Amino acid sequence: MKHETPIAIVWHRRDLRLHDNAALYYALKAGRPVLPLFIFDKDILDHLDDKRDRRVEFIYKEVLKMQDELQKMGSSLLIRYGHPLDVFKELTSEYTIANVFTNYDYETYAKGRDAEIETYLKTVGVGFHGYKDQAIFDRDEVLTGTGKPYTVFGPYSRNWLGKLADPFYLKAYPTEKYFDRLYQTPPTPVVTLDDMGFEPLGENYPKPTVSEKLLSEYQKMRDYPAERGTSELGIHLRFGTISIRDLARQAQETSPTFLSELCWRDFYFQVLDHFPHVEQHAFRREYDNIKFLNRPEDIERWKTGTTGYPLVDAGMRQLNETGWMHNRVRMVVASFCIKHLLIDWRIGEAYFAQKLRDFDLSANNGGWQWAAGSGTDAAPYFRVFNPTAQAEKFDPKGVYIRRWVPEYNSLDYPTPMIDHAFARQRVVEVYKEGLKNY
Ligand code: FAD
Repeated sequence: MKHETPIAIVWHRRDLRLHDNAALYYALKAGRPVLPLFIFDKDILDHLDDKRDRRVEFIYKEVLKMQDELQKMGSSLLIRYGHPLDVFKELTSEYTIANVFTNYDYETYAKGRDAEIETYLKTVGVGFHGYKDQAIFDRDEVLTGTGKPYTVFGPYSRNWLGKLADPFYLKAYPTEKYFDRLYQTPPTPVVTLDDMGFEPLGENYPKPTVSEKLLSEYQKMRDYPAERGTSELGIHLRFGTISIRDLARQAQETSPTFLSELCWRDFYFQVLDHFPHVEQHAFRREYDNIKFLNRPEDIERWKTGTTGYPLVDAGMRQLNETGWMHNRVRMVVASFCIKHLLIDWRIGEAYFAQKLRDFDLSANNGGWQWAAGSGTDAAPYFRVFNPTAQAEKFDPKGVYIRRWVPEYNSLDYPTPMIDHAFARQRVVEVYKEGLKNY
């Protein structure tokens, strides 16, 4: 039987929290009873080959927490599993929906999906409203003097920081003031991981908080992978289990360097939004002409962390075992993959996408294109990281290396699979050849 009370739906995606949430706030303010919804999107889940996926487990746990919080307030989180359009078709026959509120997602797939749903909802007389929540500034809020998107980080960040001086942009949305407007309903059924063909891993995820101490020492410690010097908040930012505004306010008070990392996050969101071709192609199109070797045995040694370069191997093993890798090491392994082994950056990017618990298309693509020299703010292509020198500088006592490569310095550890000087010269020639007509 159809529920007759006209309601608003808040469709949560990468915003798995009830506090300081733009879409939820505007839905509650609009006055109709609000029913929150989360859809386990079959179109996404079917593409994940490994059914022990940390991201899926993390989302699942967070969705259950939200449901619990909502049930304590007499409401519920509708949890559905299916193709989003089909789910909305079902929902419009089950409920009298006046409006759907949601927070923007900048990925191409998500934009296409949302456009399709908006079109459908229009045909049945339901409004669809999108809000900025995931980013501090949206695509058209930080532009050059001539109204164009920035493609270089330096000037973007100066403009971004200047705007941030206005406290308006980091104000929280006080959703809690209006929680009495949540739709009162008995608990709704729960989908299980098993129903969706996934297995739990029983993993412990980082806490959704960062200490004052870590932030105040961030600048000094963040480049040393043996230390716990970075926040590990990536997964929370990815799925919105913390508010970017809360975090940026905290950073503003304690660490300009950390704030600048949050600026990189916004920068790559707007790059992807303005230049969606980066999802498949080099940002600088001419870099698509570089002839990579893509040798399967090289790809395998890189993936499994058996290259004979200990910092590279430590990073890849950390990734394989934990789903996370330190930023400094991400730069080194990406450079090694592309430049030493001449593996197409898209192959490395796809491997990170499969493994990283904090995977984010825009930041991952930005990081890989940066390493390839093909991106917006790219390092010049002839600058090739020396993995041995990087290890000496950033892991001088070998603590990180020994943690992940216990056989290092024993007979079981392989000799370097390629000579650094040879690889450096080879990549410069290959890039020169690829770019010679530009
Ligand atoms: P912290 O150092 O504590 O930084 C706090 C937050 O700032 C991060 O969680 C992240 O949201 C943001 N941030 C920091 N550095 C960057 C950056 N360079 N670009 C964009 N945002 C940044 N980051 C991802 O979130 N997802 C990815 O898939 C991803 N892939 C990467 C691939 C490569 C090849 C490289 C070089 C970097 C990649 N990064 C990615 C950026 C960065 O490495 C991670 O954000 C960071 O290591 C995550 O650890 P943390 O949460 O402790 O970061």
